[in-house]
Amino acid sequence: MSDAPHFPDFTANPFEDDKLHEECGVFGVFGSEDAAAHTALGLHALQHRGTEGAGIVANNNGKFAFHKAMGKVGDNFNSADVISKLPGQSAIGHNRYSTAGEKGVINIQPFCVELEFGGFALAHNGNLTNAGALRKTLVEGGCIFQTTMDTEVIMHLTALSRAMEVSEKLLDALAQVEGAYSVIAMDKDNLYGVRDPYGVRPLVLGKLGSAYVLASETCALDIIGADYVRDIEAGEIVTINKNGVSSRKFPRLPGKRFCVFEYVYFARPDSTIEGNHVYSARKAIGRELAQESAIEADIVVPVPDSGIPAAIGYAAQSGLPFEMGIIRSHYIGRTFIEPTDQVRHLGVKLKHNANQQVIKGKRIILIDDSIVRGTTSKKIVQMMKEAGALEVHMRIASPPTTNSCFYGVDTPERSKLMAANYSIDEMREMIGADSLAFISIDGLYRAMGKDKRNNNAPQYCDACFTGEYPIRIVDKNINSTGIVSDKISGTAGAPTAETDDKAAA
Ligand code: AMP
Repeated sequence: MSDAPHFPDFTANPFEDDKLHEECGVFGVFGSEDAAAHTALGLHALQHRGTEGAGIVANNNGKFAFHKAMGKVGDNFNSADVISKLPGQSAIGHNRYSTAGEKGVINIQPFCVELEFGGFALAHNGNLTNAGALRKTLVEGGCIFQTTMDTEVIMHLTALSRAMEVSEKLLDALAQVEGAYSVIAMDKDNLYGVRDPYGVRPLVLGKLGSAYVLASETCALDIIGADYVRDIEAGEIVTINKNGVSSRKFPRLPGKRFCVFEYVYFARPDSTIEGNHVYSARKAIGRELAQESAIEADIVVPVPDSGIPAAIGYAAQSGLPFEMGIIRSHYIGRTFIEPTDQVRHLGVKLKHNANQQVIKGKRIILIDDSIVRGTTSKKIVQMMKEAGALEVHMRIASPPTTNSCFYGVDTPERSKLMAANYSIDEMREMIGADSLAFISIDGLYRAMGKDKRNNNAPQYCDACFTGEYPIRIVDKNINSTGIVSDKISGTAGAPTAETDDKAAA
């Protein structure tokens, strides 16, 4: 678990990055002379999934070398010098945002250990929901944990497995964990890719000449010129070695529940997940939103960047002009320290600024992908009014976020989720908009090409919108370090109680 501020308080430090933080990105390559360099590029393309730290482990005929560092990929894997220290024909890498485990280089993945069969490395995107319980048992049995990450239990369980093959050991370990995971692992001769039985987090297979690639998203294949082969299926483990790719499945599969929020916000718009182009999906969501909540206005304005595709869809459907009424600075980062107390209040404009000439005297429809704590919406609506907007009608390209995620998305506890605590009209009032509407859950499913949500067997994991959690949350009273805590609560099925924190990797 993390003590990291998941939702930086904008009023406390307006210079801080005001976004929520993402999950993790994983990448692996087998059979390339430039394995580490390809991995660095792949991680760079996946930077949006985690910016706190990055690591690469390379495998040179069983001799493993790694480099891990806090900060962005471009800051740490930017020289031939670093890459030359990571020789080998296969490599795996990980981008991290710390939500499970403490911050710090010790918790940067991939894990890299020496087991009885030799070197073994592993990178995980997702969140294990029984890691705390497993860890407690393992610690009681004498295991010595090196980190506070939920993922470390997979390493211990793999080491303890009595199976003969490494892939069997890994399967043994994964059979004991619950939660959401897309895992890439590597031993001397093999690269492994696994998705949990519900397939909550993405993972794709690509090919680059004779080399194979695994990555969280297709944008990481594009950057190295690899061809997309297919998505790894829910509950599938692929083993890649000199004989090619072989595949197996977990014995009992419950039915896929991919995270619909990846389409709404997380994934990069140029990625394609399970046949759905993310950018097109977001435009379709915008069109659906326009159909559901049309209103008279002059222009459609996105909150950049994440609201842009939905706003394009909304504008197309409504026939209103799309305008960049807000300009976003891409240069704000956590490193910007407010120079003096006197200018702190100016920090609200560091990231977004109203494009006044576009806004003034207009009735605007403002589009964002989601409202979580309401910080962004409040700030932007006020900014629009100050810039002379006559009316601001806020339209949100996802249903109200009423529940925390336990499967790898960094969201705050329910008490901080605006929609969990206020009615839509109260929210409208609080953010200062003239009207506020969210896409309906069925509308979201329609935009994703379904007739509607199948309430008996939902096609996606939409727990953040519905409170229906497909995977039970064993660790409701135990955090991922195995310490019994009263901070975390929740129930398998439909948590109603508050959650203070979520482990995510
Ligand atoms: P808030 O300001 O707390 O209401 O958060 C909503 C804003 O954060 C929206 O502009 C979203 O684009 C963005 N957002 C939503 N979910 C996440 C997340 N898990 N991580 C980072 N940013 C997010």
